[in-house]
Amino acid sequence: MITASHAARLSLPGADWRTLWREAITDARELLTLLGLEQLAHELPTEDAGFSLRVPRGFVARMRHGDARDPLLLQVLPQLAETQQLAGFSMDAVGDMAARSAKGVLHKYQGRALLIASGSCAVNCRYCFRRHFPYGEEMAAAGQWCEALEHVRQDASISELILSGGDPLALATGKLEELSRGLLEIPHVARLRIHTRLPVVLPERIDTAFIDWLKALPLQKVVVLHANHAHEFDSGVDEACARLREAGATLLNQAVLLKGINDDADKLIALSERMFAAGVLPYYLHQLDRVQGAAHFEVSDAQAQSLIEQLRGRLPGYLVPKLVREVGGDPSKRPL
Ligand SMILES: *Cc1c(COP(=O)(O)O)cnc(C)c1O
Ligand code: SF4
Repeated sequence: MITASHAARLSLPGADWRTLWREAITDARELLTLLGLEQLAHELPTEDAGFSLRVPRGFVARMRHGDARDPLLLQVLPQLAETQQLAGFSMDAVGDMAARSAKGVLHKYQGRALLIASGSCAVNCRYCFRRHFPYGEEMAAAGQWCEALEHVRQDASISELILSGGDPLALATGKLEELSRGLLEIPHVARLRIHTRLPVVLPERIDTAFIDWLKALPLQKVVVLHANHAHEFDSGVDEACARLREAGATLLNQAVLLKGINDDADKLIALSERMFAAGVLPYYLHQLDRVQGAAHFEVSDAQAQSLIEQLRGRLPGYLVPKLVREVGGDPSKRPL
């Protein structure tokens, strides 16, 4: 854990989530110094290829001091291995460019439309497809929901709208209100799903204004979190999850299987058990999207399947996530 002298730089008690967002660490050397790992600075890549380090201080406070293999640190620290160009790892690994049906909407699967509600995230996860996707232009930016909502309105087969990104909770609650006003005028939409990592990496985002909005929404609500390791949960995350559940949301989690971070049955079991203690059920365990710069995180399908078998033998069925891969052109995520 972090020493007392560093704690002051990692917590800003009572600060609003936007302040905490702005105060995130973006300098790899500062991060290493806070963790007592200055000696690793010479291993950092010299250029960030447009996807710089970014991590909220509260998430850093959950990293172990002095541990270069810390599973939270490894998710955010730029590595030299990212600069390798490898065959089979592309810029648009999941075929998102082909699936656009209106500005900011991805409609790949029956009944569900996914809205790129924001291009920003509070954290930059090194394995993320977002490192290459030009979401800056693509997102239904600055409240320009018209075209996206029109697409949903025109297609009565869509019963669920998924807000994704980036992180949709990067939007101010007022923007979400604007969006939900438009959504509520579409009678065939029964469910709103939010894909977000913010309750985990910046739980202060789940503030009273947000909860009031969510609670008042006359739709079925699902919030799909993204945590990869049990250490990502702390009392702040527990509280955010409790508030989301009180507001009527079903809580699920998707994790990505990551070499050196959670590619171990004990770690995956600890993650399932810890998230369930916070009221969250495991949903998907994703095989990595094969994006350039993420190859060093890849786990083989054979190992992934063996891990899931071990989980099945040791956990109740409801704590075993579905192991899937996203394959462009498929009608759903592909089970392994
Ligand atoms: C993953 C994804 C969904 C949601 O799929 P589920 O299997 O329902 O979780 C919907 N739309 C797109 C474009 C997706 O990539
Ligand atoms: S929070 Fe999700 S979308 Fe954002 S960088 Fe991490 S993995 Fe990518």
